[in-house]
Amino acid sequence: MKQIIVAIDGYSSCGKSTIAKQLAQYAGYRYIDTGAMYRAVALYAIRNKISDISNQQPEIIALLPQVHIDFAIQPDGLQHVTLNGEDVEKQIRTLEVGNMASQIAVIPEVRRFLVAQQQQMGKNGGIVMDGRDIGTVVFPKAELKLFLTASPEVRAERRYKELIEKGEQPVMADVLADVNDRDYRDTHRAESPLKQAADAVVVDNSNMTREEQIQHIYRIFNEACK
Ligand code: C5P
Repeated sequence: MKQIIVAIDGYSSCGKSTIAKQLAQYAGYRYIDTGAMYRAVALYAIRNKISDISNQQPEIIALLPQVHIDFAIQPDGLQHVTLNGEDVEKQIRTLEVGNMASQIAVIPEVRRFLVAQQQQMGKNGGIVMDGRDIGTVVFPKAELKLFLTASPEVRAERRYKELIEKGEQPVMADVLADVNDRDYRDTHRAESPLKQAADAVVVDNSNMTREEQIQHIYRIFNEACK
């Protein structure tokens, strides 16, 4: 059977990566979490004392040639992102790095740097890639495009639970404000703003269980492979 490209886009914390991972496993495809790539660049910038993105863009751009991102497959099949050979999967999942990633993602040079790598990773198909611009910019000709969405409140609730599980002590109002800020930045930036591709299938999962959602997506995938 033909190995297709599946592009999954959507707002932050709407369960894209969980769905993308499960679909990749089901299809026997490679999964690429492009958000992890933006987060890895953000982590590298933080480690290099970048704190004010709007005034330090030239410094961030100058750091890019030193950034080598890859994905290491773990014995349990999960993928961990590596930054210059170091497994940084845990370090990139904090609120601070997520916030920095969404600010760094507005810089056109950063986007071009990562998009080129993503296109290379998916050029032979057999891939499920999730992010914000996969169906619009990275793979505008992807055979299957999904656009996931859920209400900001539902997404803030999910992110809050995730952070608690990771041992952080978030404040619900901050998490919701962060979700709204990120939505705004993702949809209003000049370069590759988050938007639904005209040919994307929209899945609003506010009122769906994980299982309902995954079965729905498997059906759409099987249809797309025919
Ligand atoms: O998906 P995740 O929350 O891990 O992504 C972190 C940030 O990276 C997002 O808030 C978004 O601004 C940015 N991003 C992006 N384009 C992508 C993936 C992520 O701009 N393809």
